Amino acid sequence: MTKPKVAFYWCASCGGCEEAVVDLGEDVLTVVEAVDIAFWPVALDFKVSDVEALADGELAAAFVNGAVRTSEQQEMVELLRRKAGTVVAFGACAWLGGIPGLANLSSRESILRHVYHESASVQNGDGAMPQEQIDVPEGRMTLPHFDETVRTLDQVIDVDYYLPGCPPPVGLITAAVMALVEGRLPEKGSVLAPDVALCAECPRAETKPEDLKVKAFKRPHEVLADPDLCLLAQGLVCLGPATRSGCGGACIAANMPCTGCMGPTSRVIDYGAKALSAIASLLESQDEEEIAALAGQIADPVGTFYRYSLPASLLHRRVEPAAAARPGGAS
Ligand code: SF4
Ligand code: SF4
Repeated sequence: MTKPKVAFYWCASCGGCEEAVVDLGEDVLTVVEAVDIAFWPVALDFKVSDVEALADGELAAAFVNGAVRTSEQQEMVELLRRKAGTVVAFGACAWLGGIPGLANLSSRESILRHVYHESASVQNGDGAMPQEQIDVPEGRMTLPHFDETVRTLDQVIDVDYYLPGCPPPVGLITAAVMALVEGRLPEKGSVLAPDVALCAECPRAETKPEDLKVKAFKRPHEVLADPDLCLLAQGLVCLGPATRSGCGGACIAANMPCTGCMGPTSRVIDYGAKALSAIASLLESQDEEEIAALAGQIADPVGTFYRYSLPASLLHRRVEPAAAARPGGAS
């Protein structure tokens, strides 16, 4: 029997999603036995020309991790979309923009300026900046265009399924591949994980008071958390009430609060707004000044509530006044 061909590809990614595939351990044998890997540039020596040589739709599935930031990434995902019957956004970055999506808080210009001119670890006496084209005796060398904005995969191509997590849990990856091989995939557009909030499956849920009110927020390094009690009830910003389950509560088991990498359930439009509202409803005060002081205890609110989802949010990005005024500036 011919095995279905699959591809793995990474865009603006930390490499953790690729590690997760390797971390399948013994399960990787199940996956490798079931499919024929036709493209996986991180691990196997394939070229883009190998993908171009495939017939349109010849790949059963392409698993794409990472957000989309450059022209090269856009070209590659458009190519994989043509060649694959099914495209899976693999991990929080591909689904929601992820950690690289927090770059949408800054303009392209300020990122390049910081990295090439201002960073303490950089010496750049000539003030050089990367050029997209340069002519050398051997010919013209090119670099991909670095876009103004980080986009989610489905803001660039049509996506069939979403595998959540940063990175996706091994069990969900194996289940997704086997569902694909056995033709058991759910309705297009589905997130391949349980559609309930983490609190519903958390072993500490019984210790979370029904009328929980938080008097002070603490960061994980400021408190020795009781390993048996709800972390939110201990003043740690645990985003379990707003976050999809399916991760097995790995962070909670390590006595660390949920940071929301599994994203929202299907009933939520904007994950960050949902997480913010879940936490804001717990503040024990009706007094504006007290509320402001309590909220002020949450360091980096955007990085806390939109850590994995800024590009997918209703706000999408911050627009710096200078960038907004330029033609073709931030969108
Ligand atoms: S989802 Fe997490 S592990 Fe995967 S590429 Fe993004 S940051 Fe890395
Ligand atoms: S808030 Fe966090 S620790 Fe508390 S029940 Fe929900 S997931 Fe568990």
